Amino acid sequence: MNISSPNAPTHIEQLICTNRFGTFFGVSQQVFDRVWGQLTRPDGDSIAYISMEIGADPDVFHPIKDWLERERIREHADPQINRLVQKYLNGPRKIPNYSGGLGVLAGDTLKSFADMHVPALAISLLYREGYFSQIVDSKVGQIDQATRWTPETTPTLFQLRNPEAPDQPLVIEIPFYNGPPPHPTMVKAHVWMKLEIAGELDSFVPEFLIDYSLPDAPSWIIEPAHQLYNAKSAIIKANQRRMLGSAILPLLEALGCTPRTIHLNEQHGITVILRLILQELHDAFGDAFLDRVADADILAAAERVAHKIVYTIHTPVKAGHDRFSRELYSAISHKAFQQILNLIAHDEEGCHEYNFTAMAMRINRAVNGVSRLHRDVTKRQFPAFADKIKAITNGVHHLTWISEQRAACFDQFPSLRAWRTDPSCFDAITEQEATALAPMFKEAWRKDNRLLIDYVNAMLKSHREQMVETWIDPPNHLSNLPETEWLQPDVFTIGFARRFSTYKRADLIFDDIGLLSDILIALDRPVNFLFAGKAHPADEPGKSVLKLILDNQEELYIRSKGLGKLVFIPGYDMQISKLMVSGVHAWLNSPKRPLEASGTSGMKAAMNGVPNISIMDGWWVEGYHDGQTGWKFGYEGPIEEADLSEAPDALLYAEDAAAFYQLLPTILESFYDHPASYLKRALNNLRLNIPIFNTHRMAAEYVAQYGLRLPKDLEESIDRFRRLYLSEEGAMPIP
Ligand SMILES: *Cc1c(COP(=O)(O)O)cnc(C)c1O
Repeated sequence: MNISSPNAPTHIEQLICTNRFGTFFGVSQQVFDRVWGQLTRPDGDSIAYISMEIGADPDVFHPIKDWLERERIREHADPQINRLVQKYLNGPRKIPNYSGGLGVLAGDTLKSFADMHVPALAISLLYREGYFSQIVDSKVGQIDQATRWTPETTPTLFQLRNPEAPDQPLVIEIPFYNGPPPHPTMVKAHVWMKLEIAGELDSFVPEFLIDYSLPDAPSWIIEPAHQLYNAKSAIIKANQRRMLGSAILPLLEALGCTPRTIHLNEQHGITVILRLILQELHDAFGDAFLDRVADADILAAAERVAHKIVYTIHTPVKAGHDRFSRELYSAISHKAFQQILNLIAHDEEGCHEYNFTAMAMRINRAVNGVSRLHRDVTKRQFPAFADKIKAITNGVHHLTWISEQRAACFDQFPSLRAWRTDPSCFDAITEQEATALAPMFKEAWRKDNRLLIDYVNAMLKSHREQMVETWIDPPNHLSNLPETEWLQPDVFTIGFARRFSTYKRADLIFDDIGLLSDILIALDRPVNFLFAGKAHPADEPGKSVLKLILDNQEELYIRSKGLGKLVFIPGYDMQISKLMVSGVHAWLNSPKRPLEASGTSGMKAAMNGVPNISIMDGWWVEGYHDGQTGWKFGYEGPIEEADLSEAPDALLYAEDAAAFYQLLPTILESFYDHPASYLKRALNNLRLNIPIFNTHRMAAEYVAQYGLRLPKDLEESIDRFRRLYLSEEGAMPIP
């Protein structure tokens, strides 16, 4: 990787920095002090970004490791520095603190904030058992296991130290109200800081991960602390949300950070609003405020608090909206909270529940959906707030998702010189330049395809071997066949990888395996179908869809006379995602419209030029460009008429599968018989989609939403990323 920043380090000692919370590695003291200074400014011109999950595995984006390799530093005489060098070069590369798109989006956003020098910090939880590790057995389906990982040995993570006793970890105390007030239970937590470092090493965003798993923690804390989205009971779920929301203010206070704006990435951390309102009431009415406040006082306080909140809603799917029974909440909240919740969290549909999504909708100064279509669906779901609901279409961090081969190809191209710092530069590729780029790009794609196919074949082999020791039936039928039947490179390969949620309809294109097989046989063309994804451990319907994918393998193989090979890759994570989105020839997206609010894996494919084959849902409505970048299929009716339910009979399987089968021959012919036109579609993705669906553009739109007062030069450098595109339809581009 080339680094052009004048502030980039020249020797390793410059990457060590300290402050009263510890000694860190990755940016210079000067950079550290500048960022920390911004986050602690008295005027509060910075952002606290709150997310239940953050996906930013150091195996897919690792600017420090890249720097060490470029500088050929493999060891160091100073033992302390040497430990860091070894950790960054060879340490574990997974931080399993995410379940899917929401977390990966959070990570990508923070990386762009770092690249663009947006003053921001993030707050999330540290889960000692991660989300879960997926093992797949062809007879059983998904088997879930706790993920073992150690933050202590993971590069980019640092445990904050106690400024008064530097050999001790920092302990923050977080008040929880369980049962009658006045006295809260104080719960202790440690704090980890992950440095999300800019590609140019000249800035960073600190992510603070609250670690509640201390030896003497009560059991009602331990269970929700260990595993992300532990949903064994409603109370565990409610407590996990509270553990995020309630930690925000105590953490900021302990650190001395002053952000005026709290950005809620989904409503999970919403209980911070209750704390803020409580604080307002306390300030206005003193210690005995409980006896003195009227409803009007609470609503006035809520209005003041709303000025601090920016909220992004990520899904129209009901299961993604938090509701808690009033009875349950009465046992775990301050008396005043119930009074507040009765006023601002009532549920239009059920009087026995509090609706936290509705609360977030009410209490904010700005709210957005994550694509234009999703904005419109959200307006329909929350008509009372329709006027204020805006669109900021998601993006992905281009430096994370563009493969090494593709990156090396872009690096060689003079007019793309700035692509690492400015993804909008792809917009300026001319027809002529695209022609010049084509052969190089094609070669990079071919290499990525080989890497993926090799990975899958090695996996098939290891599953076969593992069976002897583990008794796990290999998830793939191909593992049981001779190796000559395994995957070949350059065969048209379709990828699909995402969480197994009902509405994503992973099994859509296998609705009629007979017909699918007939199409392949009629054209006499082979196709690899590569699938990956996890179902939430409590999501039985999701697990059945996954099992169906496994069950379909043999039938497809036999009926298509070996032309159709369906492979499931277990353990979907960011690394597998990157391998897939860059190694396949087309990316499939088959949700039920309009339930996919945005979808980001298709954007990762587009970053690598890979065409999408997709339902007209989420981002694809904006990324399709009349077919220049890929294909659409299926139901496209107006969203006012669309059914938002996930009920089996509302999922439109027959109709949308038929549309896919109708389209498939065109795509196969394009790939096999007209490779030049296929390649053109790929190059169109670079030109039309990279400049839009990157998190730099998205972050620039958020910065406008935040209303930060930034130095003029910084403001301008951020502004340029949203010159080409604004998610709000009809909004005028900034001149
Ligand atoms: C990108 C990504 C997702 C999100 O993909 P969608 O298309 O939005 O469903 C989920 N999991 C991983 C590991 C990813 O990299």
